[in-house]
Amino acid sequence: MKYQAKKKFGQNFLHDQIILEKIVKAIPNSSNSQIVEIGAGLGDLTQHLLKSQDVVGFEIDPDLCKYLEKKFSVELKNGKLKLHCGDVLDFWNQNSLIKNKYQIIANLPYYVATKIILKSLEDKNCNSLIVLIQKEVADKFLAEAGNRNFSSLSVIAKTLSSVEKIIDVNPSSFEPPPKVQSTVIKLEKFEFNESYNILENFIQFKKFLETAFKQPRKKLLGNLSKDFPKNELENIFLNLGLDFSIRPHQVAIVDYHQIFEQLNSLK
Ligand code: SAM
Repeated sequence: MKYQAKKKFGQNFLHDQIILEKIVKAIPNSSNSQIVEIGAGLGDLTQHLLKSQDVVGFEIDPDLCKYLEKKFSVELKNGKLKLHCGDVLDFWNQNSLIKNKYQIIANLPYYVATKIILKSLEDKNCNSLIVLIQKEVADKFLAEAGNRNFSSLSVIAKTLSSVEKIIDVNPSSFEPPPKVQSTVIKLEKFEFNESYNILENFIQFKKFLETAFKQPRKKLLGNLSKDFPKNELENIFLNLGLDFSIRPHQVAIVDYHQIFEQLNSLK
């Protein structure tokens, strides 16, 4: 179909059959969870997914919703596809997008990709995500401690999930081509028991990371002393064997957990 893509909705349609197949192949075997596609667009990925799975789709653009309703009239009638028209963020009720366990498979609109990934990571019903996003953002999710891309996003994602790169995608795989390189990543959530401390205090943990990475090239100790007493921080750093001059991107995830928990135990 000749369709005038709308920039404001981040519309870059993926037409590369090899990438579409790679995305579908990367889906973890988890037969009892629902496939959710955010931003169904012109339905190319939806079509691939429907070959083997039922799909719940979300699409914000009313014109595309009408198009999808026509294209998938059979699947909508027989229940293989459910389509929700509107902003996916408005469907996140009481912290869950849908009431069953689900996996997200999506070529995400770049303007809202990070927000959607973070919401899904914190949504207890979401088991995993395979998402096509801007490469620069993917590199932040993928980065290990010591790498200059290591950020609060890396710590949050890797506290809650394993993060794996599937494939880089060139602009020519899309119509219209985006101005940036893209990457498909897979995040598989860990199973936590209820006593996992950091999850209980996740809002504070995110705030703590925001402070830690506020000035990413400055010393971690300096950044954290803006919100926490310096002498207590110095004791914690000594306990953990961390150099006072260490920078935020050089600190391992377990050490972030430890600093956070030790600060909490002082309260
Ligand atoms: N899945 C299609 C594909 O792979 O070609 C389209 C991907 S395109 C990058 C992103 C899609 O997400 C667009 O169809 C856009 O209209 C839709 N979209 C943008 N913001 C959205 C939102 N907040 N909620 C639901 N869909 C959204």
